[in-house]
Amino acid sequence: MAFIDYLHRAILILMQKAGILGGGQLGRMLLQQAANYPVETYVLENDPQCPSAHLCHHFVQGNIQDFDDVLRFGKTLDVITIEIETVNIDALEELEKGGVKIIPRPAVVRMIKNKIRQKAFYKEHHIPSPEFLVVNNRQELQDHLSFLPAVQKLGEGGYDGRGVQVLQHAGELDKGFEAPSVLEKMVDIKKEIAVIIGINEQGETAVFPPVEMVFDPELNLLDYQICPANLSASLLQKIESVASGLVKQFESPGLFAVELFVDQRDEVWVNETAPRVHNSGHHTIEANQTSQFDLLWRILLGYPLGKTGLVSCSAMVNLIGQPGYSGAARYSGLPEVMAMEGAYVHVYGKKQTKPGRKMGHVTFLGESPELVSGKAQAAKKMLQVIA
Ligand code: ADP
Repeated sequence: MAFIDYLHRAILILMQKAGILGGGQLGRMLLQQAANYPVETYVLENDPQCPSAHLCHHFVQGNIQDFDDVLRFGKTLDVITIEIETVNIDALEELEKGGVKIIPRPAVVRMIKNKIRQKAFYKEHHIPSPEFLVVNNRQELQDHLSFLPAVQKLGEGGYDGRGVQVLQHAGELDKGFEAPSVLEKMVDIKKEIAVIIGINEQGETAVFPPVEMVFDPELNLLDYQICPANLSASLLQKIESVASGLVKQFESPGLFAVELFVDQRDEVWVNETAPRVHNSGHHTIEANQTSQFDLLWRILLGYPLGKTGLVSCSAMVNLIGQPGYSGAARYSGLPEVMAMEGAYVHVYGKKQTKPGRKMGHVTFLGESPELVSGKAQAAKKMLQVIA
């Protein structure tokens, strides 16, 4: 027994201790990949029933926004990453000073988590991004009537489209946010694209082929996403060069998702960046040589970057809690979707569903964009998350 204990300890010494702040589905998929590597995983999250709780070696209950909780969680770890931006940055900076590796660097998370700072960074670094103004309250909108129509975005606290609204004309100013926000010029969007890029401590990058978001024209909600994006070679090159030029200027290792717009004149604009694994990269689990989750581990643990090339064309649909249903989650139509050729189902293990909650996703692999988008649309109708 003692010998086995000794052996066990010796193995752990070879392992790095890695912490993830946040325990949602992004953390869960990161942990699924961690099982392949010599790493001991720790998760900090308030909810002991969260999607990551049962897949990590050590679940630590605590608040990712609380200085003491984050400091206590991180001080014995080798490396820390995040799966959401709303974390206590002061504590991460303290840990960084104490020698814990924080990927991405706290300074870049501080800049990105506030849309005012993020937009200012783009301007300062000559990154093409829609022109903007900063407004501190609803009253100040009155000073900028000539800037309308515009998109108003909360500086902090917005998520998945909440905290973003279009102000068409002066008559709509009463719905303006009563908080510091950016007022951004409307882009006449032709396509919404996302590019995921990994960058290691040596500054080497690995860029995933761009993904195209396809919106439901009636609901104006993301319908599904497709990879590769349907773009000309010159636009592809422009997008990749804008996105990787941006990520290099962050001066931080990490995995970044850059969301961009292509307008009707084929101009490229950076909308925003996430400093973490992202919804737009779920398909990489099956459709790319290395997944976004694998690439982040390689960066966190100091291994070579993997190849990001496509194994297959893919389409991905999110499984969203059906409107009108709240309570214990049930998955109607799951066996039917699983019977479809090329379907890869991911259910996140959230016990409770509510309208609009991200409960899972399905990726389809296939020979052509038409084939996989048809399947994604069919699956969306067949599979419903109800209570
Ligand atoms: P979130 O961070 O909540 O996802 P985004 O900044 O990505 O918010 O905005 C959500 C959506 O609003 C985008 O996907 C896009 O469809 C639309 N949008 C955002 N900014 C603009 C803009 N400047 N012009 C036109 N549409 C925009």
